[in-house]
Amino acid sequence: MTATRPDHRRNASPFLYGAEAAAVARVLESGHYGHTDLTEEFERRVAAYLGAPDVVAVSSGTAALHSALLAVGIGAGDEVVVPSMTFCATVQAVLAVGATPRFVDVDAATLCVTPQLVMEAVTDSTAAVLPVFFGGRAVDLAPIRADLSERGIVVIEDAAHAFGSRNRTGAGLVGGDGTALTCFSFGPIKNLTCGQGGAVIPRTPEEAATIRQLRLLGVVQSQSERAERTAYQVASFGLRYQLSAINAAIGLAQLNGFDTAAATRRHLWRTYRSALAELDGVTLIDVDPDHAVPHLCQVRVQRRNEVFVHLRAANVGVGVHYPPNHLQPAFASWRRPLPVTEQVGAEILSLPFHQHLTGADVHHVVSTLRDALQHAGGS
Ligand SMILES: *Cc1c(COP(=O)(O)O)cnc(C)c1O
Repeated sequence: MTATRPDHRRNASPFLYGAEAAAVARVLESGHYGHTDLTEEFERRVAAYLGAPDVVAVSSGTAALHSALLAVGIGAGDEVVVPSMTFCATVQAVLAVGATPRFVDVDAATLCVTPQLVMEAVTDSTAAVLPVFFGGRAVDLAPIRADLSERGIVVIEDAAHAFGSRNRTGAGLVGGDGTALTCFSFGPIKNLTCGQGGAVIPRTPEEAATIRQLRLLGVVQSQSERAERTAYQVASFGLRYQLSAINAAIGLAQLNGFDTAAATRRHLWRTYRSALAELDGVTLIDVDPDHAVPHLCQVRVQRRNEVFVHLRAANVGVGVHYPPNHLQPAFASWRRPLPVTEQVGAEILSLPFHQHLTGADVHHVVSTLRDALQHAGGS
C-alpha cells in the first residue's frame, strides 16, 4: 500500500488545516493586501503563543535576520560568528549588512554550535553571534552569555527551524525569554507557514520600534494618521519587509492547528528513531524531541551520495540540509578549516519529514534505506 502513496516521495511539504483558503479569499475580497490589522493580529497571537512581550512580523526569515542585524547596528568592519552548517540565507543576511561571516564548526551529534565552539571562534572584531537552531533544537548559550555581553557581542538566534520548540533550561519557548533577538521563518515548509513570512522577537520596545519602521521603508505612521494626512514622513533607512495581510491570514489559520503540528512532528520523529535503531551504520542527528518541535529528520551515513541516488531511484524524497556554506563559491573569501562540518557535510541525509507522512510511510522509508545501505556497502 505504501508504495502507491505519494507522501514519502516528498522531502518536505506544507500542511494545511482547512481554514487557510477561505481566510485568503476574505483578504483578497477586502482589497487590503498590505500591512493591516490582520498583520497586527498575527503578531499578537504569536506573542501570546510564545509568551513574548512583543513580536514584529516581517516578509520572510531572511528579512527577519537582516532586520535584526540592522536593528542592533551590525555593519561594515563587524564580524558575525555563524555556523557554516545552515541554510545559505543565514550567511546572506550577514553579507546584506556589509559584515563578515566568521564561520564556526558544529557538534556532529546535533549539527548545532556549542558555547565552547563559539568562544573559540570569537575575535576582537566579533560584534554578533548567530546560532542556528538546527532541526528545531534550541541552542543554549547561557554559559557564555555574560562573557559575550561583556565584550559587546549580541546574540541573534536563527530559529527558522524552531517555532514552538522549548529551551532546554527553564520551561520557556524559544523566543519567549527576551535574552536574545530571535528570528523565525514562516516560509512554505517551515513548522508553521504563512506562505512566506517571518518574525523578529525584539529584546526591548526600542528594538521593536526600530524594526517596525525599517520594515515599512522607514516611514513613520500609525493606522489612524495614515488615512488623514496629506504627507508621510520618511524618518530612516528602510525596506519593503512588511508581512502582507494575505500571508498573515494563512499564519493565523495555521496557528489554530499548531498543537497538532507539534504532536505529529514529535510522533513521526520518534517513530523514525525507533525504526532506525534497528539499522547498522546509521547515526540519527539528535533534535531533542522532548523539547523541540522537530523540523527535520536527518541521519549520517557512509557513502551518502550512493545511498541518496538509490533512495531517489526508489522514489524516496531524501534531501541534504545543507551543503556547507564555507565551501560555497559565494563565501569562499571567508573559508577556514571546519573539520566536523566538512566530515558531516558529506554524510548527512534528510529523510522525508512532513505532516502528511504516516507511520507506514516512515517504515517504508526506513526499509528502503536498509536496502540502499546494503546496495552502497556491497558495490
Ligand atoms: C528557511 C531558513 C531561513 C530563511 O527563511 P526564509 O523565510 O526562507 O527567508 C533562514 N535560516 C534557516 C536555517 C532556514 O531554514
